[in-house]
Amino acid sequence: MILAFETQNETISHAQALKVLENRVLEFRKNYKQKTLEKKEIRFKFYPYSNLGSSIRISAGKLEFKIHSLYLKSDPIFLEAVVDLLLYKLLKLPIPEILESQIYRFYTNHSHSKSESQKKRKRIERSESKNETLKLILKKINDLYLQIDISEIDIYWGKGKSRTRLGHYDPSHKMIVINPILSQPSIPEFVLEYIVFHELLHVYFPVKRKNGKNVIHGKEFKILERKYPDYKKANLWLKSKLYQNTNF
Ligand SMILES: [Zn+2]
Repeated sequence: MILAFETQNETISHAQALKVLENRVLEFRKNYKQKTLEKKEIRFKFYPYSNLGSSIRISAGKLEFKIHSLYLKSDPIFLEAVVDLLLYKLLKLPIPEILESQIYRFYTNHSHSKSESQKKRKRIERSESKNETLKLILKKINDLYLQIDISEIDIYWGKGKSRTRLGHYDPSHKMIVINPILSQPSIPEFVLEYIVFHELLHVYFPVKRKNGKNVIHGKEFKILERKYPDYKKANLWLKSKLYQNTNF
């Protein structure tokens, strides 16, 4: 079942990559009226650096990008995101939060890549930054729909790719754990957000005992859940992606 999500092997050609780079530079020139980017020949190279690092510099009238080759094997949105990130850095402009979270998702997705050492992998998995994306989503979803006190609620990506649970709320530790399978770029944002909303509903509706049984997804829970704008869309997506036997 997990394998169904790892089929994204489409490779971006160098010609397509150049097009993405040119478009982004053009866009930055237009939006930020940056003289720095004018009349610069774009050069780029893709390297399989082990730390996923990428860089940008201006040298002898050329705008030179060095980008990790894994970006050629992912959704083009990640290549666009890393190019944008490099341009924002070069121009010393504030980096939008959404961009950082996209890059984190790319890192999360590739932190188990075979090209990396075991040591590096551990370092990335332990880093706090990759959970920042989830914290931002939790805050956004709560602000939009529930507005409850989440100051004590923790949220982070789980360790193993569980085949049976997409998310889980542990009330004794006040923590929401999200299946890292959902950090893959093939998972749409609205699906991840919906899962976070579902788990937040567990914070909102604690488990009740009724006739000697635990009521986890009670009537009120379900009514409120169905009011979520992407409820149908997200459930349809999850069903179509063979998630039928997965609980959350
Ligand atoms: Zn649930």
